[in-house]
Amino acid sequence: MTKRIALFLLFAALAVISESCTSGKKQEPYVLLISFDGFRHDYVNTFQPPHFLEFIEEGTAAKAMIPSFPSKTFPNHYTIVTGMYPGHHGLVDNTFYDSTQNVVYTMGKRELVQDAFYYGGLPLWQLAQQQGLKSASYFWVGSEAPVAGFYPDYYEIYDGDVPNEARIKKVVEWLQLPESERPRFISLYFSLVDSEGHSSGPNSGKLKETVLEADRLLGLIDQKIAELDLPVNIIVTSDHGMYEMTETAETFIYLDSLFAPDDSIKFANSGPIVHVYEDDSTRQEQIFQSLAAKETHFKTYRRKDTPNQWHYDQHPRIGDLLLVMEPGYYFRNGSPDTTKTMMDSPWGVHGFDPYVTPEMGAIFYAKGPNIQKGLLVPPFENVHVYPLVAKILGLTTPSNIDGDPDVLMKAFVE
Ligand SMILES: [Zn+2]
Repeated sequence: MTKRIALFLLFAALAVISESCTSGKKQEPYVLLISFDGFRHDYVNTFQPPHFLEFIEEGTAAKAMIPSFPSKTFPNHYTIVTGMYPGHHGLVDNTFYDSTQNVVYTMGKRELVQDAFYYGGLPLWQLAQQQGLKSASYFWVGSEAPVAGFYPDYYEIYDGDVPNEARIKKVVEWLQLPESERPRFISLYFSLVDSEGHSSGPNSGKLKETVLEADRLLGLIDQKIAELDLPVNIIVTSDHGMYEMTETAETFIYLDSLFAPDDSIKFANSGPIVHVYEDDSTRQEQIFQSLAAKETHFKTYRRKDTPNQWHYDQHPRIGDLLLVMEPGYYFRNGSPDTTKTMMDSPWGVHGFDPYVTPEMGAIFYAKGPNIQKGLLVPPFENVHVYPLVAKILGLTTPSNIDGDPDVLMKAFVE
């Protein structure tokens, strides 16, 4: 062996030793943010799903997570990933009117769902990217639009037919990528609990079965993540709860009874809420007085007079006037269909004022190397998840978020 080759081998050996030393250093943490849409805060207590119970014991749990107003799917999912109230991030409802584009945004219009114009704030995928981390999304509101100019590094176009286990499999594959390509922040979404909650209500036998299926999925995730031997923090959330509806003669309020067909009033309807848009202040006041005189089980607000805790008095996509239902009642378009018989079994609705309707309460359960074990925290607003995720990943948050890092600081372990 020549001296040169011996030296080369010596350096190669040293390189291997130093490599194994660096891989022995503390690994950077990961966050897997999960949403079980419509998973109400008391389902675990009521249905005793075993994996959820075990998960909660090993981490931090909230008595409830308070959704932002309105307690709808799109605004709340986007609040969780931006740390901003819907009235601030601009995705103000599942359905709303944007006067600058003269369009009605709805969840079903793919071209609008994928248009970054509608999404304010800086979602966690882009926050991570901007600070040098990879991010991924297996479904989440806002993940299909190039917010702040970029998509998550890995993402999927929403397709509710993709089996839940296939979603989990893909997330595990992302976490098995080489370190330089591996996403440090991943979102994962499941709709099963919301769907069943809508169709049979929050107290049905079928809903219990569905919660137990969600529990099986959580158990599977937990097991697959444990096999990876990576420092993954798992945060399980939901966007809102569910209110049990039973039909009476007064349950539905038909919009034809509020607006005369020739009124040409511009409105967007989202079940428990109706947004009314009218720029002209005289006309607006006339409509307000007319609606206020017709109040039955709903309340009429001028946007500027909505309750402070809604943070819903600024954004122009919010109706100039808002009709908000009492829990248990529902706005329907048109006029009553007299051929229809009353529903004889309960169903579920969300969207009511989360500050006066405890049934709207969502979930927050977290565990992992950076999460306190065996901690129960009081109910908190969902804007505060964002700064916790940022803290775990070592990211600096934008100064304009509504979330306060102090709220969940007790849950954080360095
Ligand atoms: Zn939802």
